[in-house]
Order: sequence, then structure tokens, then C-alpha cells
Amino acid sequence: MFVNTKCAFCEQMFDYDSSSDDPTAECPHCGKSNTVELLGDTAAPVLTVQHGAPTLAGVKECPVCKSQIERDAVLCIHCGTNLATGQKAKGSSWLAAHGRLVGLISGALVVGAIALGFVLWPKQEDAPPVYTTPASTGEQLASIAT
Ligand SMILES: [Zn+2]
Ligand SMILES: [Zn+2]
Repeated sequence: MFVNTKCAFCEQMFDYDSSSDDPTAECPHCGKSNTVELLGDTAAPVLTVQHGAPTLAGVKECPVCKSQIERDAVLCIHCGTNLATGQKAKGSSWLAAHGRLVGLISGALVVGAIALGFVLWPKQEDAPPVYTTPASTGEQLASIAT
């Protein structure tokens, strides 16, 4: 991208390639070397418009993980950082991340225990002596089912 630059020596305008890494440019009019100062809106196509754009009004950026979180959020849901203290709440974030898993595991254990009870149940019927009557067995099955 070429930028119209004014020579500091002869004050004539000339084009300078702003994509060049060399900040010096030789004036084609007087031949002197200029240190080109890239001026704001003509030379620096930096996308500053995106910063704090209206579409992001409802969210803010987590200072730690750069994730977008709710503007009034106190705790980052992505990395667990407490935005008031700036410290990571490791314990609570772990629980938040794994609480569902813990629930699933404990739920699976309960289901497994019930299933194990049903698997073992017929063996108790076969074991002598059998004191239970068909009626009481039915009651016990009913109590397990509830
Ligand atoms: Zn010049
Ligand atoms: Zn975060």
C-alpha cells in the first residue's frame, strides 16, 4: 500500500510503500532520505473499530483466557477466573466443569447397585432353607421397585 508522504526537506509530496519494513524513504524530488512517520488514518489500517463495537455490548472479554463472557459476570465460565480479585477459583471451576460428570458417576453407581441387587436376587431364592413365601417375595420385590 502506497502512502502519500510529504518530504521533510523540500516539502514535496511523494509515495511511500507502507508495506515496506524500511522506515526510510528517499525523496524523488530532492534525493534526501526521509524517516517516514506513518500518519494515523492514511497509513495504519489497524482494525480498531472492532474494539468495543456495539454488537459486543452484552459481553466482555475475560482478561485471562480472552473468552467472551457476560458483561456483569463475576466469574469467567471458561477459565474460572474471579474477575473481582483476578484470581482463579480452581476448586469451584473444577466442580463447575466436572459437577455433571460427578453426578453421572454417582447416578451410574446407584443404577449399578440396583442392577446388582436384581442379579443376586434369584440366588437367594435358590438357597435353602427358603423361609419366604411367594407373597412375601412379591412384597420385597415391590419395596425394591419403589
Ligand atoms: Zn524532498
Ligand atoms: Zn476466562
